Amino acid sequence: MRVKILGSAAGGGFPQWNCACQNCRALRAGTFRGKARTQTQVAITQDGRSWFLLGASPDLRAQIEATPELHPRAPSRGEAPRQSPIAGAVLANADLDHVLGLLLLRELQPLRVHAPASIRRILREDNTMFGMLERVANQASWTDFAPGESLPLLSPAGEDSGLRCRALSLGTHFPAYVSAERQSQLNPQESSLGLLIDSPSGKRLAFMPAVPVIDDALLTELDSADLLFFDGTFWSGDELIRTQGSGNTAQQMGHVPVSSPEGSFHKLAGLRRPRKIYLHINNTNPMLDEAGPEYWQVRDAGWEVAEDGWQFDL
Ligand SMILES: [Zn+2]
Repeated sequence: MRVKILGSAAGGGFPQWNCACQNCRALRAGTFRGKARTQTQVAITQDGRSWFLLGASPDLRAQIEATPELHPRAPSRGEAPRQSPIAGAVLANADLDHVLGLLLLRELQPLRVHAPASIRRILREDNTMFGMLERVANQASWTDFAPGESLPLLSPAGEDSGLRCRALSLGTHFPAYVSAERQSQLNPQESSLGLLIDSPSGKRLAFMPAVPVIDDALLTELDSADLLFFDGTFWSGDELIRTQGSGNTAQQMGHVPVSSPEGSFHKLAGLRRPRKIYLHINNTNPMLDEAGPEYWQVRDAGWEVAEDGWQFDL
């Protein structure tokens, strides 16, 4: 399996359009030691020709153009010039940062969308714009899956990619735009998932961009992975409140911070197996600054801080 990080920032990207925090200001001024990042997007393939997106970010169009493997191939004689190596997507939550990109893939292209029934219902039944993905037969095909079950990732035509996905239920909160009435009809266990992707080689990717709490059961699952993309949204619990003067804590937003006794840096220190990479990093996170102590604290402990364009083979 080949794994590509197309985007590594949290919602808003880095820099964020309405943010003049220390990081965003320094990046714009050209004095920042570190890289700009687009909003989190990962793509995976087994055969190198047919790719699956983990989520669909608002930056997807630019991310596709920056990734030659995802460009449509030149048509051979008599062939139509409209096709895509992107076979489909797997959805782990219904957050706008994670699903808006689907609307950018609406040009009558066949796609298979693997999603829990709760997420499918929010998008297809309540948000009529997503009907643009279903204007003709054989456009978007939706395949439901439940947390815990092992699911083959299928092409739009139903061919098995060889990749297997199992979702872990990590949270119980749907996005704020989902009405209370709709929420009462949905399964909260399907609101926020981590994804474990197995390749035929026996290697495993863990994709965990939003983790509200780390317990022993999760640690066991994470230590079964060879490559871990873990929630690096916030360094500290009150980071946004200090930046904005008001707002929510990291925990209230469904993200365990990197630092603090309950944070991922401390809790995941004992993992033996996976290569550990922080992904989904908010622009306020001091870990983005390669001249700063936070960056070196995680690097010296064996963590890596994801950048757009990184690629791995499992
Ligand atoms: Zn900022």
